[in-house]
Parts: sequence; C-alpha cells; structure tokens
Amino acid sequence: MEVNGKTRTLGLFGNPVAHTYSPFIQNLLAQYMEINSVYMPFKVDEGKLSDAVNGAKAMNFLGNNVTVPYKVDVINYMDVLDENAEMIGAVNTIKYTNGLTYGYNTDGEGLIMSCKKSGIAFKDKTVCILGAGGAAKAVAVACAKVQVKKIYIINRTIEKAKVIAEIIKKYFNTEVIVADYNQLEALKPIDICFQTTSIGMHPNVEACPITDNSFFENMEWAVDIIYNPCETRFLKQAKEMGISTLNGLGMLYFQAVKAFEIWNDTLVPEEIVDIIYQKFYNHVYET
Ligand code: NAP
Repeated sequence: MEVNGKTRTLGLFGNPVAHTYSPFIQNLLAQYMEINSVYMPFKVDEGKLSDAVNGAKAMNFLGNNVTVPYKVDVINYMDVLDENAEMIGAVNTIKYTNGLTYGYNTDGEGLIMSCKKSGIAFKDKTVCILGAGGAAKAVAVACAKVQVKKIYIINRTIEKAKVIAEIIKKYFNTEVIVADYNQLEALKPIDICFQTTSIGMHPNVEACPITDNSFFENMEWAVDIIYNPCETRFLKQAKEMGISTLNGLGMLYFQAVKAFEIWNDTLVPEEIVDIIYQKFYNHVYET
C-alpha cells in the first residue's frame, strides 16, 4: 500500500532496535489486512523515553511497541493499563486514543497462542518456569490465566522468583512454588517446562540451564522462549528424551499479531495469520 496523507504511523521504541523483526511482521500484517499504516524502528536514547512517547502522541501515532530496556519504565507514561500490563508491571504495546496513552502487555498471550497452535493444552497441568526475569513474569501470569494446576518457578536469584510468586498469589488461586536449580529432581512430575532464561541464546548456543537429562522424564512439552538459535541446547536435550518441543519464534510472532489487533480493533483471520507466520519463519531461518 502506498504511503499517503492518511497513513498512520506505528513503531518500536527500544535500544538497540537494529535487529528487530517487528517491522517485517507488522508491515506484512497491514498489507494483508489492507490497512494504511507503516511501522518503523525507533532507537530511543537513554533518558529520552518520555520525549519519545509524548512525541508519538503529538504526531498522531496510532501506537507503539516497547522493548528492552523500556518495558517497565514506560508504565510511568501510561494513562490506562490493561489487566496484563498491570499484573506484570510492564508494557510492550501502546495505543494512543483520544489524547490518552493505553498500555498493554501481549507477551504472555503471544506465548499461549503459539503453544495452543502447536497443540499444547494447559488446564490442570503442572508447569515449571526456568528463570524469573521480565519474560518469566509474563509467562507465569499467562499460565495462571489458562488455569494450570501448579506453577514451579526456578531461578538462580531466588528473590526474583519470589516476587513473581507473590504476583500469582495476589491475582490467582493457582498453587505456586519457588525453588532453585538444586531442587529440580524433587519437582517431578512436570507436564510443561518453559525455559525463559537467556541461557543458550546466540552466541552461547552450547549453554543450557539443565545439566541432567532425567529432568525431562515423563514431561509432555519443553518450550524455550529463545528463537535464536532455532533449536537451543535445552530443546535438543528435551528432544533426545523423546519430549515434544517448541521454540520462541511463535511467541514473538503472536505478541505482534495481538498488538496489531489492539491497534486496529480487529481480528486477523487465521488464514492470514498462518500465511504471514510461514513468511516470517522463512525470513528468520532460511535467509
Ligand atoms: P531478564 O529479565 O534479563 O532475565 C534473564 C533471566 O535469565 C533471569 O531469570 C536470570 O537469572 C537468568 N539468567 C541469565 N543468565 C543466567 C545464568 N548464567 N545462570 C542462571 N540464570 C541466568 O531477560 P528477559 O527479558 O526475561 O528475557 C529472557 C530471555 O527470553 C531472553 O533470551 C530473551 O531474548 C527471551 N525473550 C523472548 C521473547 C519472545 O517473544 N520469544 C520475549 C521476551 C524475551 P537471575 O535473575 O538470577 O539473574
């Protein structure tokens, strides 16, 4: 679609932004959905986040995504938060409406949409989350929302795991237990394990938070939210134990689809979702 006087602007606020895939996904979604918008990367320097948000609002942007390192700070500039952003304490999607800034967090929903697409069922399952950073918070809240039975949160820094456990206890009835990596054997049986640490991410592709493969015994699914490399050491080890695996590309993709739907107040038909996912997959892994 040509850029003209009616084109709405969207973009990513972060630093760095050079390697983002968001423009690829968002501009394809707009093209297939025949929406007159354009999505650009915006590198926001330290201390300039408020200028960025106010500038976008002043220039009639439709919305923004927000990534590292601004997902938490940006809350300060939101007038209204959705339920997920409120619980997680972080915003990855902004919509500007009638002079107000609305903050959303679509990361957890993106993960669940990706998992469901792969056939993962959540109700009454026992899940284990490795890591307790920003992404783990979104994963834990998303798991509680889809009514898993029990959530284990494992982290090197136990205090951070406890903070997430308190969030879950505050908003849900889900059983939540905090543990460290020495206690993994005692947690079995686990149905689904989410690897949310940065361990194993490119270029440290041989690293893995799990040293003993017996951890995977009787598990149904091992999910790594990392997507580079395509198959982390964690996923390789799970596969060796006969466990079904899923990487983080779908999470990245579906959080973007969800953001698109929020900005445009629409639902993307499944057929278009699937076509663009295939293009995205090829763009990331086959070029
Ligand atoms: P973060 O807030 O910095 O958290 C990092 C986590 O990794 C913490 O739990 C940290 O433990 C743990 N960790 C790092 N190095 C470790 C080590 N050597 N030993 C043990 N634990 C270690 O990062 P984040 O934003 O949550 O992101 C985590 C990963 O998820 C990144 O790889 C990111 O690219 C990926 N991610 C993917 C998506 C997606 O859409 N697919 C979305 C968000 C994030 P401590 O607390 O003990 O430091």
